[in-house]
Amino acid sequence: MLKDKTALVTGSTSGIGLAIARIMARNGANVVINGFGDGDAIEKERSGIETEFGVKCVYSGADMTKGDEIADMMADAAKEFGAVDILVNNAGIQHVAPIEDFPIDKWNAIIAINLSSAFHTIHAAVPGMRKKGWGRIINTGSAHALVASPFKSAYVAAKHGIAGLTKTVALEVAEAGITANAICPGYVWTPLVERQIPDTMKARHMTEEEVKRDVLLAAQPTKKFVTVDQVAEMALYLSSDAASCITGSMMQMDGGWVAQ
Ligand code: NAD
Repeated sequence: MLKDKTALVTGSTSGIGLAIARIMARNGANVVINGFGDGDAIEKERSGIETEFGVKCVYSGADMTKGDEIADMMADAAKEFGAVDILVNNAGIQHVAPIEDFPIDKWNAIIAINLSSAFHTIHAAVPGMRKKGWGRIINTGSAHALVASPFKSAYVAAKHGIAGLTKTVALEVAEAGITANAICPGYVWTPLVERQIPDTMKARHMTEEEVKRDVLLAAQPTKKFVTVDQVAEMALYLSSDAASCITGSMMQMDGGWVAQ
């Protein structure tokens, strides 16, 4: 389905991004993976994608807080593959703290990685997509792009920003064969969620089980974590021609969270 296409997925050494990169490759796209982690493990994943799916897979270690590194990553991808056809802005971090204690460096990092990096990649990718008359921009939003939770000021602000960026870009490229959408998952069981448990335990004076039941899944009526594969299937669908009229949408995958 995606043969002759190139997908670039930021933050794809782990969690949702890795599942998205793998489903794109499984469907024939060449992929650029990005993110941090152990070098040997990343190389194993990269070469594994090539041998398992018969596509080309390139790794970029670009830091999503740095505009110049993002520009280089986008230029390298265009040089290697001609263009980025499917851009998935997925890199993200979290920090949980009351507003009055929220560390300024965490605020800056979350806004840079979860929001500004998507501006930089879209800014670089759209000219190539316009030239081809085809493109897919998929931003990993969150239920927190639509509603708030306490102690997550930077994350909620960045994700609401992603919603605004997605809608604005969708309008600007609407007649160019390019769509821009955000996937808005509720809680997905990934390292990002696992890592916020200790801080939430501290902020709310709770045990791990209480955090899972009464905080994480409290707002998710299904009481089930979303899976990374379910999010990846949505990204694949948004990349298909069947989804060509879906643009500017916030695709909720939250077990009913924002319906309440
Ligand atoms: P994760 O921690 O498993 O993966 C995050 C990825 O981002 C990793 O590959 C990491 O290396 C990369 N990354 C972090 N900082 C980076 C930087 N400065 N430069 C480049 N890469 C960087 O997290 P995840 O849960 O898979 O989250 C992925 C996205 O999904 C995030 O945008 C997150 O906000 C969003 N999301 C997650 C959930 C959830 O419940 N897990 C829910 C809704 C939305």
